[in-house]
Amino acid sequence: MKRRRSSWRWLLYLVLGLVATPLWLLWGLVRTSGRVLRVGVSLVDVVPCPDGHPNRVYGTWVCRGCGARFRGYAFAPCPVCGGVAAYISCESCGLAIRGPFRE
Ligand SMILES: [Zn+2]
Ligand SMILES: [Zn+2]
Repeated sequence: MKRRRSSWRWLLYLVLGLVATPLWLLWGLVRTSGRVLRVGVSLVDVVPCPDGHPNRVYGTWVCRGCGARFRGYAFAPCPVCGGVAAYISCESCGLAIRGPFRE
C-alpha cells in the first residue's frame, strides 16, 4: 500500500513537470521578446507627439530629478541620479510625449 502511494506521487510530479516546463519556456520566450521589443523602441531616434510632430530623442537633456545636463537618449537613466524622464515636451506644441519604458 505504502509503495503504491509513493508511485502516485511520482506520477503527480511527472505530470506537474510536463505541464510546468512548457509554461516556463513560454514565459521565458515572452520575457525575451519583450526585451527585444524594448531595444527596438530605444533605437528609434524620432518619436511623434500626440499631434504627430516628429521629435528627436537624442540630444542634450536636463534631468528633472537633479538638474544635471546630459547628452544622449532622452529616456536613458540620468548619469548622476539614475532618474529616467517620464516624458519629454514636443518641440512644436509642447504636448507631453511619454517615455517608452513607463508602464
Ligand atoms: Zn538626475
Ligand atoms: Zn507636437
